[in-house]
Amino acid sequence: MSIGHQHPICCQLRHLLSDYLDGELEAALCAEIEAHLAGCPDCQVLVDTVRKTIILYRSQALAELPTDVKDRLYQVLNLPPAKLKP
Ligand SMILES: [Zn+2]
Repeated sequence: MSIGHQHPICCQLRHLLSDYLDGELEAALCAEIEAHLAGCPDCQVLVDTVRKTIILYRSQALAELPTDVKDRLYQVLNLPPAKLKP
């Protein structure tokens, strides 16, 4: 993911991403996110990375990561650690 990508929708999407990947967003919002993703490679990469990260986390593989890396991930994902349940 690239730093310096300042599109406001990208920022919004980052905040909604965990709910989106959990399937907790309204259909209308999902459609908006998918429409944005279709035209934004940066966000495609982000969604892909987050999805894989959540899968890894749930398979406990993230337990192997150093704490500072996890903390940075949570910040990027805007997720409190408690939100990610195995
Ligand atoms: Zn974007």
